[in-house]
Amino acid sequence: QPCLAGTSMNQYGHNFTKTIQRIDAAHHMHPFTDHKSLNAEGSRVIVSAEGCWLTDSDGNRILDGMAGLWCMQVGYGRQSITDAVAKQLAELPYYNTFFKTTHVPAARLAEKLAEVTPAHMNRAFFVNSGSEANDTVFRMVRYYWDLMGKPDKKIIIGRNNAYHGSTVAGTSLGGMGAMHKQGDLPVPGVHHIMQPYWFGEGGDLSPAEFGIKAARALDEAIEQLGEDRIAAFIAEPIQGAGGVIIPPETYWPEIKKVLAKRDILLVVDEVICGFGRLGTWFGSDYYDLKPDLMPIAKGLSSGYLPIGGVMVSDRVADVVIGKGGEFYHGFTYSGHPAACAAALENIRILQEEAIVDKVRDETAPYLQEGWLSLADHPLVGEARMVGMVGALELVPEKGNRARKFPSVGEVGTLTRDMSFRNGLVMRAVRDSLILSPPLVISKSEIDELVARARKTLDDSHAELSKRGLLA
Ligand code: PMP
Repeated sequence: QPCLAGTSMNQYGHNFTKTIQRIDAAHHMHPFTDHKSLNAEGSRVIVSAEGCWLTDSDGNRILDGMAGLWCMQVGYGRQSITDAVAKQLAELPYYNTFFKTTHVPAARLAEKLAEVTPAHMNRAFFVNSGSEANDTVFRMVRYYWDLMGKPDKKIIIGRNNAYHGSTVAGTSLGGMGAMHKQGDLPVPGVHHIMQPYWFGEGGDLSPAEFGIKAARALDEAIEQLGEDRIAAFIAEPIQGAGGVIIPPETYWPEIKKVLAKRDILLVVDEVICGFGRLGTWFGSDYYDLKPDLMPIAKGLSSGYLPIGGVMVSDRVADVVIGKGGEFYHGFTYSGHPAACAAALENIRILQEEAIVDKVRDETAPYLQEGWLSLADHPLVGEARMVGMVGALELVPEKGNRARKFPSVGEVGTLTRDMSFRNGLVMRAVRDSLILSPPLVISKSEIDELVARARKTLDDSHAELSKRGLLA
């Protein structure tokens, strides 16, 4: 059972937390962090984890409702992954896959990925992260159209509030305005269209009408920019970091209609949705999409070691390999042997324990029932979830989607911090809370999760009414 007692003596000693916080504040620049506010509070120091539970340096046990960063599919503490990595490190800790060389784990992982991804995808290009996967996409789609003798087809269409990583290409393809401002992005040749975010942007339209409208924005952009200049459309099946934006049911079918009459590539970013998150192996299976390229990362290794990839369809491979010469692209650690070994063992676990089927048939429906029941809370404007990824929209006035809190993000952050105090990791995006737990979460852990989420909403509601922030 969780212990939330706080600061008692533990194996690390009284001063351990403070020491780590001090050296961290002095020397460590964190990703996506405002260091002034971090250092005022001190970093939370995570020291170990098992299953779905994290332990911090004060001995608190916290239920990890975000699966690390959407990546911990099979749960923490899998000895067999540790063993597979150790064995690989002892046998061959490193060798590259450039210059007509391969090694056993990279070849076997590529074969395995061809098996679990959609049937028309039979080749994997390995990288180390989701961002690098999207950098690879950026270069590969342009190279593809050069080889096709259509060098004018260079523009990639993405969507507002999409997330495709934080490198120059990833940030450019993504649609985060705040990220674009830092570093003068996007680079030329990227165009963004509206997102299918009904709760936030649907206005008076029904979700179904709005889904059609958002999908037709793709056709309008192609028309306006010229089909002969468009290389690809890139999208996440469900936007993750943008706030778990689950598109209306009409959206993907309409996008498919648009793409059917246009000669542009479809890139489906599966970095979050891949490897079981939606109760199917890939988001493309869930929405019945036929991607030409599919960036993957995160759940590929359940985060045990960094690895990503781009799954390449036969259509693209036939051109890039068949017509092309050398593609001048790759990384020292493309297909790192230890990372491939971790990914192979992770996929073996997913298959052997039938985790994806179990999510689809048992645990995701159970989690959804609990999560969607939070919609009755006075602070919640909408609860949504597909598979094991969901969001709660927090609102000052229930039933009024147009009414927002005065300073966007303040309530989300406050509630997220409450959740940590209640022993549950959720993440805040604007004024919503998002959830994406390990796929191995049990029904009793789901009960615990939903109870803690409800307590968090109650605590937050009390605090907000004290501050006069509710209608
Ligand atoms: N694509 C998507 C859809 C993502 O959610 C992320 C990371 N959250 C990335 C790409 C980038 O992955 P990474 O952080 O591994 O570079």
